[in-house]
Amino acid sequence: MKREHIDMIICPYCHGELKLEIKKEEDGNIIEGVFKCKNCGKTYEIEDGIPKMI
Ligand SMILES: [Zn+2]
Repeated sequence: MKREHIDMIICPYCHGELKLEIKKEEDGNIIEGVFKCKNCGKTYEIEDGIPKMI
């Protein structure tokens, strides 16, 4: 997923703001990482460039 798309993503559970921890990035695409909700603390993994938001 592209870096510029990240700002549009909110926590699907509580609609809180997410903090992104990038583990692997190539050419501005995030390949692996973890979103963590600043509000409820839930985490969502990014695997192969796809955020697992559910
Ligand atoms: Zn949340």
